[in-house]
Order: sequence, then C-alpha cells, then structure tokens
Amino acid sequence: MFDFHMHSLVSGDSQASPEDMVAAAEAAGLKEICFTDHMDCKIGLKETNVFTQESYQKAYENLRSEKVVIRFGMEFGMMMNNRERFLQEVAKRDYDFIIGSLHNIGSCNVYYQSFNEGKTQEQVYAYYLESVLECLEVHRDFHVLGHMTFPTKAAKNPEHTPYTMEKYGDLAEEIFKKLTTMGIGLEVNTSGIKSSGQPIPPLDFVKRYVEMGGEIITIGSDAHKPEQVGNYVFETLQRLKEITPWICTFAEGKPKFHRIDSLC
Ligand SMILES: [Zn+2]
Ligand SMILES: [Zn+2]
Repeated sequence: MFDFHMHSLVSGDSQASPEDMVAAAEAAGLKEICFTDHMDCKIGLKETNVFTQESYQKAYENLRSEKVVIRFGMEFGMMMNNRERFLQEVAKRDYDFIIGSLHNIGSCNVYYQSFNEGKTQEQVYAYYLESVLECLEVHRDFHVLGHMTFPTKAAKNPEHTPYTMEKYGDLAEEIFKKLTTMGIGLEVNTSGIKSSGQPIPPLDFVKRYVEMGGEIITIGSDAHKPEQVGNYVFETLQRLKEITPWICTFAEGKPKFHRIDSLC
C-alpha cells in the first residue's frame, strides 16, 4: 500500500521528524511512501512554506527503512506568476515525484483566509476551480494535480461540504481535459474523508477523469503528523477499485502502474 503525499519538518507547517513519519508508515503496513514537502513560492510576498536544499538534504540523507520504500518529492504551490521559480526549484534535485497544488490565489491563502468575503460557498468553490484552470495555462511541469477540490478542507470552511459533480462537473471536465492532454495525473487525497466522508476530489470526480482518458492516479494522506500517515488509504483504494484497476507510484519522475486488486 502507498502514501504519496506527506510532509515532515522540512515543510513550514509540519513539526514531524522524518523518522517518526517512516515509523508510522511501517506501523500502518505501507509498502511505499513519498515525502512531498511544501514549496509555496510567492513572488514578491512573504514566503513561509518553502524549504532550502540544505534543510531537505539534512532531514532525509540518512533516512532508511527495511520495510518501506521511501521516495522524495515536493508539493509545489502553483501561482499565475511563479512558473519560473517552479522550474528553478524542480531542477535543483532529482525528485521522484512532483505534486502541483493551488494553495494561494493572489495574496490570499485559501486554507486560512476567508478569501472570498461576500461570496457564497458555491461562488468560492467555482472560483477555486477556475483558478486551477488558469494555473494549468501556465504550469505543466508536475506529475499530478494535488487535492483538486481543496476549499472543502479549508479551516475557514468548518462544514467541509464536499464538491459535487452536479454543481461543478463542467469546470471539472475542463480541468480533466487539460490534464489528460498534458499527461498529468490526478491525486486522490484522503485528508477530506474524516470531515466530509469523501476524498479530495470526491470519487465521482475521479470516475469522470478516468472516463475522459485519465490514467495516472496517485493516493496520499497529506499527513503532517505521524498519526495521519496512511489514513483512509486502504479503504479508499477499495472504493477506487470500482473506478479503475490501476494506482500509480512514482520513481525518478516516472509512473509505475500497480493493479489495485493485487494490493487489496
Ligand atoms: Zn496542499
Ligand atoms: Zn500537502
């Protein structure tokens, strides 16, 4: 079993030691994991969630496990004006796996700020997907789109209402068209399940992505603490099996396809 989205103290918003995260992965029975630390480059704004190569190297250089294969990646925070930085950061190391995520729109952090005061939740949810679409006009140098329906889990959205295909299907399809054309995969992020019962994005979104020709799907818990490692990954793969026979891991930037029924 895999968990291809997790953070350690290399990320500005996690205090977890890499060793504790690996120990948690071993205890959870995972076979392969990937650290995907935040690189939220915000041109001209204060950057709090970025790492240096020195800190990355120091945290991970002696990390070993007998039981779990450990991969090393990055979660890049896409913005309209930071593709250049993206390319610079990606080139600094041979990452196994790059997630492209949208956390900040303009000067607003989608997770912490009520970034659309005066707008209805539906307007906010649609605006986020429109912003993802815009970013996909600029960015293409990553392997999977991270937590596509991110506002579901925002701290400023305490009800954590899941997105529905009924309301947001048109925008989702435009995004899937771009992803499949560019050969970019879709992440199933299990961090939404505890609060809303659905991963991010919900599984009917993943189904549509597959129907539209999408093949690359990864799964990750987005753990920032050891107790979150591997959360809901087993259960979600069981449900995913109805939609696609395949789940991917990445090594040296290349996807490897695994049959889900060989895993669970
Ligand atoms: Zn993220
Ligand atoms: Zn993350």
